[in-house]
Amino acid sequence: MEQKYVPSEYGKPRFNCPSCAAFSAQDWYEYVEGDYGQLQFERYLREVTGEEKHFNHIVNGFYSNNVFAMSMCASCEKPSFWVKGQLVYPQTSPVPSPHSDMPEEIKKLYEEASSIVMVSHRASVAILRLAVEKLLPELGAKKDTIDKMIGELVSKGLPESIQKALDSLRVIGNNAVHPGKIDLEGEDGFEVALSLFNLLNFVVEKMITEKNKINEIYSLIPKGMKKRIESRDGVFLDGK
Ligand SMILES: [Zn+2]
Repeated sequence: MEQKYVPSEYGKPRFNCPSCAAFSAQDWYEYVEGDYGQLQFERYLREVTGEEKHFNHIVNGFYSNNVFAMSMCASCEKPSFWVKGQLVYPQTSPVPSPHSDMPEEIKKLYEEASSIVMVSHRASVAILRLAVEKLLPELGAKKDTIDKMIGELVSKGLPESIQKALDSLRVIGNNAVHPGKIDLEGEDGFEVALSLFNLLNFVVEKMITEKNKINEIYSLIPKGMKKRIESRDGVFLDGK
């Protein structure tokens, strides 16, 4: 059985360690104003956040004006570093960053899936499926089941490679929710999950980034020419 995942959070006494993924106790060390070494930490904060001022508020009982804090995992004894209540080290996931053109709502789900992939492949894959469900209307499908939305886009000429990427995300995602024939445990499951992150980025590259680039170039064509293109019916194929 998979244990419940508790994300790392500033000031919490126990969570799943970003280094070893174990659910373990955390020892906290804070550097508050006036502490030895504060100057170095202030410089560090400036580099990381670009801000000069520190704010005086409390998160989970810890002062977060403290510039810098460290939590030490009782299980692997590795430190995590926090600046202004935000985890800055270690980078928590081997998953590639979300595509820069990924719509915001989908990016959030992608990052959530990425943050838990080391703990549960299945949960991660299930969230990716949800991300696809949110992405399809952005690609021009009418809101419906994922299956139907992909079908609609296929009928509008969706390239086969994109259809296959989307269906992989859909079917393997379903499998994560209702366990079936695809094994998502162990090393292999991790590889599958990782591939799905790449597929989602691939879909965004093809369906959003490349389309935008082409539309940008196309918008340079004068209006009159565009009208001729639109009413061409195959006549002006080589621009003659
Ligand atoms: Zn650890």
